[in-house]
Amino acid sequence: MRAWPSIDMNTLEQELERRRARHLYRERLVLDSPPGVEIRLGDETLLSFCSNDYLALANDPRIIAAFQAGAERFGVGAGASHLVSGHSRAHHALEEELAEFVGTERTLLFSTGYMANLGIVGALADRRDLIFEDRLNHASLIDAARLARAEVRRYPHADVTQLAKLLARAEKPRLITTDAVFSMDGDFAPLVDLHRMASKYGARLLVDDAHGIGVLGKNGRGTLEHLGLSIAPPVIFMGTLGKAFGVFGAFVAGEAALIETLIQRARTYIYTTALPPAVAEAVRASLRIVREENWRRERLQALVAQFRAGAGQLGLNLAPSLTPIQPVVLGGAEAALRASRHLRACGILVPAIRPPTVPEGAARLRITFSAAHEPAHLERLLQGLAGLATA
Ligand code: PMP
Repeated sequence: MRAWPSIDMNTLEQELERRRARHLYRERLVLDSPPGVEIRLGDETLLSFCSNDYLALANDPRIIAAFQAGAERFGVGAGASHLVSGHSRAHHALEEELAEFVGTERTLLFSTGYMANLGIVGALADRRDLIFEDRLNHASLIDAARLARAEVRRYPHADVTQLAKLLARAEKPRLITTDAVFSMDGDFAPLVDLHRMASKYGARLLVDDAHGIGVLGKNGRGTLEHLGLSIAPPVIFMGTLGKAFGVFGAFVAGEAALIETLIQRARTYIYTTALPPAVAEAVRASLRIVREENWRRERLQALVAQFRAGAGQLGLNLAPSLTPIQPVVLGGAEAALRASRHLRACGILVPAIRPPTVPEGAARLRITFSAAHEPAHLERLLQGLAGLATA
């Protein structure tokens, strides 16, 4: 039997050194400004292409004002979990407004998307159940199935033929889980096919729309709406509020019985302090902007088109993505780090995304756009990328 690695100080230091030698060491940046197109790190001002604040709402004065007013009215903390005494009028109103927005009977707030995924899967599956996952699913979906101790079958990315084979052999498929827009690739899951298969085999389809809600579909209703699907069984919908909405938190949308089941059973809902109500007030203000300001989504689409045309001319290895997530896959971790450092020297921030966040050999620059980017910003990015070959 393999000896369990020791975790004394020397071993931890050696392990960190090995990580550094393999170009996999991760470091945090310390921001001295709000998120935005231009960010400050100490004395350095950088043009940022790496935030998930797609609609440029994280520093919106109207949402900040709602946050402040929410804190004045409800205080800074919820003080308890939702089922004890932490569920405020602000949370309740937001849940109703989100349900109306996405067109479901009810929604339920969670503190983060990560916790929402753990909570949903844990409430609906256990060790007797079978869960089907896209190989490129977000870590939170992968961890959710692990924590539920369910049996897992992973199918090759977006490969519905393989999934159909796995489903045909399965005795009682419980859940199919997928990112709607894949977080590191920007492409869509084959949701129309997945929906059909879930219906055919009697499974529920958990759709994680962290990167589609607010960005895609009519008035920002998300990827399902964009592809002509509605949020009704077999679909269970999860949307996050810390990306396009610019705030924090997440919600699950579905039929009343599903939401009530989650309230009774989802451990990441029950055993944690509720989101600060002021955060819910901020999201309510954000939701109004998300619905009304279509120009933000139109701007993103224009930026994506401009980038793809420019990057195509440079001969860059573009991914088949129509969303504001535009990765440039470079291969090895070292190549991705070198590219990121080169851009940083040009005053541009795009971090290198390396394994295990992406598969081995698929390290990349993950470029993202925000509605506050101007065409001139993109020109600067393209110039920086043009210098990559010689960097
Ligand atoms: N799902 C996906 C696809 C994500 O990209 C993320 C965030 N990176 C999450 C879930 C987790 O959301 P949150 O940040 O709210 O925990």
